[in-house]
Amino acid sequence: MSNVSASINPVEIARIALKKLSERGLAPTPENYTKFYNAIATIKSPDAKSSFETLQAWQLLYKVEDILGDMGETTEQLLTALAGGNETMSASLDQLQDTRRAHLEQGASADDTHSKLESLLNKIISSTSELHTSVSLSSTDLLAIRESVRSIEENLAVNRQILEQDALTGAMNRQGFDNRLVREAKLAHRHGHKLSVVLFDLDDFKLVNDRFGHAVGDNVLIHIAGLAKSVLRESDILVRYGGEEFLILLAETDIHGARYVLERLQQMTRRNPFMYKQQRLEVTFSTGIAMLRDDENGRALVLRADEALYVAKRNGRGLIEMAE
Ligand code: GH3
Ligand code: MG
Ligand code: MG
Repeated sequence: MSNVSASINPVEIARIALKKLSERGLAPTPENYTKFYNAIATIKSPDAKSSFETLQAWQLLYKVEDILGDMGETTEQLLTALAGGNETMSASLDQLQDTRRAHLEQGASADDTHSKLESLLNKIISSTSELHTSVSLSSTDLLAIRESVRSIEENLAVNRQILEQDALTGAMNRQGFDNRLVREAKLAHRHGHKLSVVLFDLDDFKLVNDRFGHAVGDNVLIHIAGLAKSVLRESDILVRYGGEEFLILLAETDIHGARYVLERLQQMTRRNPFMYKQQRLEVTFSTGIAMLRDDENGRALVLRADEALYVAKRNGRGLIEMAE
């Protein structure tokens, strides 16, 4: 992703764009949004260290999402109210027609009664049809607004994905994961689902860098991330948790299922070694696995996986250790 030139503070741009959005009564016009979009898109993706600016950008992103969420609801309510108003109007019109009919049936001989009612009726009919036109006009407007809110939401999802991605491996980054973990743990608790975490760290990776250089090390990381993705389901999340440390979040998966996934990855890694100058470059990793307990949150879960990983390292590397 492109870097922002030093003179421009991306957070400031985003803030201005946001201010403009709200100044205009939050009209989600493409021009307004483009300003915001550009501001977000030019923010450097968070690598190892998340800067203060990046944090602010995240907060901003959430804020805009909240506002858009509220707007979506308001638009919905307005549409319902307008549709309701339409029905009420036609009902009272029916009622009036009934009254008129009854009046005539009762032998209302006086012509002026008739003509008064007639003109009243005409007035109401014409004002109703005017109202009807304006109602359907604003319905169209509102539908257009809703449509543009939807497309902004899609754009925000893309931006969020960019912010959440590790630039080297395409895995989710730590920041994205921290946000996701809270949600997944809550969901698992609420629905009584299992949730497992696999944490694996490449063994003696410093040696790879020392022997072959940092660029080769980078390619090994890309290779391993690619293999990991190939053994995962759509719903599983691969995270670059640290430099040469990856995490897999497995929804609706117990600790045995998690172990199975990791064993498949080990097998894949043996069968598809990283090749350097026509030589196999053997890569192993140590793994800690933990499953969410009823009495813990996501952070505690990861901590237990981390402790298990530490034990795996201590016991000789290349091993899988399950947290009790
Ligand atoms: P251990 O088995 O105990 O995990 O040994 P290790 O050498 O893998 O662990 P250590 O923590 O001593 O070193 C981690 C190494 O990973 C050092 C660091 O330069 C390297 N590393 C971290 N991130 C990257 C990266 O993005 N690219 C490359 N090429 N190397 C990285
Ligand atoms: Mg390591
Ligand atoms: Mg490490």
